[in-house]
Amino acid sequence: MPPMTFDAIVVGSGISGGWAAKELTEKGLRTIVLEAGRPIDPAVDYVEHVLPGEKRYRGMGNRKQVERYQPIQRHTGACDEWSSKFFVNDLDNPYSFPEGKPFYWIRGRQVGGRSIMWGRCVYRWSDLDFTANAREGYGVDWPLRYNDMAPWWSYVEKFVGIQGRRENLPQVPDGEFQTPWPLNAAEQKSRDILLTKFGGERVITNARLAVLTEDHGGRQKCHLCGHCARGCITLSYFSSINSTLPAARKTGRLTLRPFSVVHSVIYDPTKKRATGVRVIDANTKQMFDVNAKVIFLNASAMESTRILLNSATSEFPNGLGSSSGELGHNLMDHIMDGGASGTLPFAMDKREIGNRPDAIYVPRFRNVKTKHPDFLRGYGFEGRAYRPAWDRGSEMPGFGASFKKSLIGDLGPWVMDFGGFGEMLPRHENYVELDPHLVDAWGIPALRVHCSYSENEHKMQDDMVVTATEMLEALGATDIHPYKEDNPPGLVIHETGTARMGRDPKTSVLNSHNQVWDAPNVFVTDGACMPSTANQNPSITYMALTARAVDYAHQLLNRREL
Ligand SMILES: Cc1cc2nc3c(=O)[nH]c(=O)nc-3n(C[C@H](O)[C@H](O)[C@H](O)COP(=O)(O)OP(=O)(O)OC[C@H]3O[C@@H](n4cnc5c(N)ncnc54)[C@H](O)[C@@H]3O)c2cc1C
Ligand code: SF4
Repeated sequence: MPPMTFDAIVVGSGISGGWAAKELTEKGLRTIVLEAGRPIDPAVDYVEHVLPGEKRYRGMGNRKQVERYQPIQRHTGACDEWSSKFFVNDLDNPYSFPEGKPFYWIRGRQVGGRSIMWGRCVYRWSDLDFTANAREGYGVDWPLRYNDMAPWWSYVEKFVGIQGRRENLPQVPDGEFQTPWPLNAAEQKSRDILLTKFGGERVITNARLAVLTEDHGGRQKCHLCGHCARGCITLSYFSSINSTLPAARKTGRLTLRPFSVVHSVIYDPTKKRATGVRVIDANTKQMFDVNAKVIFLNASAMESTRILLNSATSEFPNGLGSSSGELGHNLMDHIMDGGASGTLPFAMDKREIGNRPDAIYVPRFRNVKTKHPDFLRGYGFEGRAYRPAWDRGSEMPGFGASFKKSLIGDLGPWVMDFGGFGEMLPRHENYVELDPHLVDAWGIPALRVHCSYSENEHKMQDDMVVTATEMLEALGATDIHPYKEDNPPGLVIHETGTARMGRDPKTSVLNSHNQVWDAPNVFVTDGACMPSTANQNPSITYMALTARAVDYAHQLLNRREL
């Protein structure tokens, strides 16, 4: 097959790839998006309104099938009877890790990637985050600061549509928000109490979400059905399928090719540029090339790095972009599974209306004004106050009309949960490499992942339990259950790093505009580029970095410098 030729190639159609496609096409570039997975038809694939009784296993899932084909994916709660189809088949997409050192790599392989199942929490960073590596001597300094990013966050937030409450907290700056939902009565009362008892330091606010509370850009506001990981037929939450890919398609310059597994980037040593990518058709297994002036790798953090590792040349024997020795290194996730829940003593006469898709957030308060003696960096809490209501009947004895009536009549008290999400330090010894023996279903070398949490993360997790318990005590909660689980990294599904940005080609893979130092017409704008993780959910930052990098690439193309 002769190579196809476009102005731009985007690898992957998930959160960051969708943005690359939108921005490149809107700037006039004929762009092909190469997506390894299948197409998605919202009319068929979105199942947020399908009731448990309509599912074959009544929502409990086909355990045997999931254990066989998704032994890794099943560890995330979203991989249920409705949504397991959006998570990868682990047998076709293998990877390895050393015995006793697991990493749970949770992936989606379809048009839209994980933007279909993501939790939609979106937070800006502050300079507390951007300067942390330099201040504390971990990893490399970010080549960016808040002021470089702020206009790009604004740009993407306005398009995405975000519900959030303005709080004026310097550590988690406010963004461009739609009208927030009101907190429920128990959350509002908890907010008021904690603001007083902790002097404004611990703030319960709305989780900032990429979900519409007002109609926006042809998408309808959320109707609170509450099962977003299954799709959204009213396009109320942001996903590539709901938002960026339609915008790219509207330009008439988008070619979207599903079932196109990118094997490697093709590098021309005489031009010192990439000329295109090598692709395997997922169905026919036929190999073909696609050429373009500029290539955006958006296959997700570790997949983009895998493509670079598989693109070794005689000049770059350890992979394209490996001249610093950092390609594959500094893998990070967040740490979670530290927190507490308890029963609240108030708001017994109030109830919730609808199923809000997410609830509250307590922004980072550790190592903001004063230094914590035990650990660096910080964490925030996600959580919610809810009344167990009729759901609790599934774990109680009883049946029939009177049983159901008793569950509806007595909603039970409010329960509050605070679950921590903390920053993981970048460390060279957490890395990915090509497994010398393992290949995927298309014969492409797979990754071997070496990753573990350090003492800093474990101490932070201990502190999550302490502070969550303190807050519940301050609320007068009873029946307080502190919890801490020892899950492996990966499960937070915020994997980042492995091709970090930096100021110096000797210590980083990408420059401050996400260009591969060794191949300037290749840009990596997914999570691979991150020199640190902060504690905030990362995807809105990938979107902003992508829009910023496309703008820069477009300037270079206009100046004929690519
Ligand atoms: C249950 C869940 C909850 C989450 N909650 C949040 C949250 O609240 N906030 C947040 O910020 N993040 C959240 N995340 C993480 C978020 O989904 C990811 O950070 C984000 O999707 C990453 O975007 P991406 O473009 O890098 O990759 P993805 O969205 O994963 O897309 C990558 C795409 O590349 C394709 N691809 C991979 N390899 C190749 C190849 N070789 N050739 C061609 N195509 C390829 C894949 O098929 C996929 O479509 C959550 C994720 C999950 C699963
Ligand atoms: S809760 Fe809102 S955003 Fe989520 S699926 Fe339902 S309508 Fe869509």
